[in-house]
Amino acid sequence: MIPRTLFSAEHEGFRDTVRRFIEAEVTPHHAQWERDGQVPRSLWRKAGELGLLLCNAPEAYGGMGGDFLHSAILIEEMARAGATGPTFYLHSDIVAPYLVDFGTEAQKRKWLPRMATGEVVVALGMSEPSGGSDVQSIRTQAIRDGDDYVVNGQKVFITNGHSADLLLLACKTDPQEKARGVSLLLVETDRPGFTRGRHLEKIGCKAQDTAELFFTDLRVPASNLLGTEGGGFAVLMTQLAQERLIQAIRAVSASEAALEWTRSYVADRKMFGQNLSDFQNTRFTLADLHAQVLAQRTFVDRCMALHVQGLLDAVDAAACKLVTTDLQFKVMDQCLQFFGGWGYMWEYPIARAFADARMCRIGGGTAEVMKQIVANAILPKVARKPS
Ligand SMILES: Cc1cc2nc3c(=O)[nH]c(=O)nc-3n(C[C@H](O)[C@H](O)[C@H](O)COP(=O)(O)OP(=O)(O)OC[C@H]3O[C@@H](n4cnc5c(N)ncnc54)[C@H](O)[C@@H]3O)c2cc1C
Repeated sequence: MIPRTLFSAEHEGFRDTVRRFIEAEVTPHHAQWERDGQVPRSLWRKAGELGLLLCNAPEAYGGMGGDFLHSAILIEEMARAGATGPTFYLHSDIVAPYLVDFGTEAQKRKWLPRMATGEVVVALGMSEPSGGSDVQSIRTQAIRDGDDYVVNGQKVFITNGHSADLLLLACKTDPQEKARGVSLLLVETDRPGFTRGRHLEKIGCKAQDTAELFFTDLRVPASNLLGTEGGGFAVLMTQLAQERLIQAIRAVSASEAALEWTRSYVADRKMFGQNLSDFQNTRFTLADLHAQVLAQRTFVDRCMALHVQGLLDAVDAAACKLVTTDLQFKVMDQCLQFFGGWGYMWEYPIARAFADARMCRIGGGTAEVMKQIVANAILPKVARKPS
C-alpha cells in the first residue's frame, strides 16, 4: 500500500476521537435513523460537544480552529462507516465556509457559535423542481420591500430540510437577470410563510432528511443578505473546489471500506470445496478494483494537499469528483455481486452502500455537469444558442 503522508500525529489523534464517536454514537443507531428518515438533534449536540462540528472554522466563532484535514478525517470516517445520515460535512464544510468568508461580523457572531455546538442545524437551498443543475435559472424570488426581502418560491431535495433551523437560500433578487440576479439569504425556519413538505422517500441515504420547502410572502430583514445583492452566484462559485473535493473524499473512502468488507467476506465464504477468494474471477476482480481505488486515493490525497495550500483548482476538483463517484458505483456493484443474495439484503452494509453510491453521481453537481466543466477547460467553448 502507498503510505498516506498527509496527516500529522495530532490529526491521527483526532481520527481516534472521531472513530470512537462513530462506534458509540452513530453505528449502533443508524438503522433506526434510516427508518426514522433523519438523525436526532441529540446527535448534533454530542458532535458539537466533542468539537466535531465546524472543526475547520476560526476559534473566535466557536470553531475548533483546525484545518481542512480535520474536516476530511470526519468525512472519511463517516463514509467508511457507511454513515450517510449525519450530514455534518454539509453543515460544517459547505454552509459554514460561506458565513465565515462572506458573513458580516453580526451574522458570524449570531450563527457560527451555535452551529458549532449543534444548537443550530443548517441547510443549503439551491435546487428547485424546475431544475438543480442550472442555478442561474432558479425561480424563487426575494423582492426588496422597504427594509425586508419578500420571498416566494419552492425548493426541493434539500438535505437537512426538515431539521434545519437556518437555511442558506439561493434566490433571485432580480428575476430579469441570470447569474447576476442571484442572491443568498439567511432564512430562519421559524418565520411565517415558511412550510416544509413531505419527507422525500429515497432509494438510499435513508437516514438523511430530504425535504421540499415552500416560501409564501416570507419576510426576512435585508440584514440577512449574505454578501451583496446579485453577488450570490459569484459567492457560490468560491466554494466549488471544496464541495467537489468533499464528494471525492466520501467516494474513495466508501470504496475502500466496501473492498475491505468484500475481502473479508470472500475469504470466509465456502463453495465447491473452496473459498470464494480462491476463484480467479474473485482474485482478478478484487485486484483490479483495488488498483483503481488505490490510484484514486492517491489522486484525492494530492487534491487534499493542494486544497490545504489553497491551490486546488475547481476544474481539477470536478475531474476528481467525476472519476471517484463513477468508480464508487462500479466498486459497490461489483462487490455486491460477491455477496450473492446477501448483497441484496438491506441488513448488509454493501446493500446500503450500493444504494447510497447511486446518489453521488447526482448530488453536489451531476457527472454530466462535471464533464461539461472539464470539457470547457480542455476544449474550445461551444457557442451558446440564445435562450
Ligand atoms: C439525496 C439528494 C440530496 C440533495 N441535497 C441537496 C441540497 O441539500 N441542496 C440542494 O440545493 N440540492 C440538493 N440536491 C439536489 C441536487 O443538487 C440536484 O439533484 C442536482 O444538482 C441535479 O439537479 P436536478 O435533479 O434538477 O437534475 P437536472 O438539473 O434536471 O438534470 C437532469 C439531467 O440532465 C443532465 N444535465 C444537466 N446539465 C447538463 C449539461 N450541461 N449537459 C448535459 N447534461 C446535463 C444532468 O446531468 C442530469 O442527468 C440533492 C439531491 C439528492 C438526490
